[in-house]
Amino acid sequence: MSSTDQHDEAHNGALGSRLNWLRAAVLGANDGIVSTAGLVVGVAGATDDRSALLTAGLAGLLAGSMSMAAGEYVSVSTQRDSEKAALATERRELKEFPEAELAELTGLLVGRGLSEEVAREAAVQLTERDALRAHASVELGINPDDLTNPWHAAWASFFAFTAGALLPLLAIVLPPSSIRLYVTVGSVLAALALTGWWSARLGAAPVGRAVVRNAGGGAVAMGVTYGAGVLLGAVGG
Ligand SMILES: [Zn+2]
Repeated sequence: MSSTDQHDEAHNGALGSRLNWLRAAVLGANDGIVSTAGLVVGVAGATDDRSALLTAGLAGLLAGSMSMAAGEYVSVSTQRDSEKAALATERRELKEFPEAELAELTGLLVGRGLSEEVAREAAVQLTERDALRAHASVELGINPDDLTNPWHAAWASFFAFTAGALLPLLAIVLPPSSIRLYVTVGSVLAALALTGWWSARLGAAPVGRAVVRNAGGGAVAMGVTYGAGVLLGAVGG
């Protein structure tokens, strides 16, 4: 019924959930950059044809953004279902065992640093005002009026991925063919350095290592698909 990390989550409140959204947006954009860059650079290894590059990039953008959105929809729906189930259990327990629930709430408040006496008084007042809300917040770390909406989460990842994917797509189709690879690789590495920097800042992690790791991952992805594209182009052409 209770767990330590859920308490910590409740503690973080609105700031914590805003950070989670931001981090999800940065990660979604990062995915869009890396997977689309790998795709278009790979196709560019095999062909100079601009419409083939556009088709591949656009297909990759749509496939990736829809797959991200569907995955996010499923995972948030599942989380929402389990939160609703936990609230239903809580509601039933409050009705059947009000004394035990009051003792439980008191214990949780003591665990947060209140004295026994003050915790008891606080638990009584919280229970009188809105018992379910108090238990949802202190015990489960959720606000019953503010469960994450699966559609919002799905649209957010769709747009984050699309925004990231547009960069390599435009970078490969817009410039003249003689410089398109340089423009794409350069802008992708710069963008990955930026998203690596940003996500490290959001997670309060060391920035330098995150930037190198993130840009390095993208460089490897583009190198591998470019090599595969050149090989396939040589074989097929
Ligand atoms: Zn409870």
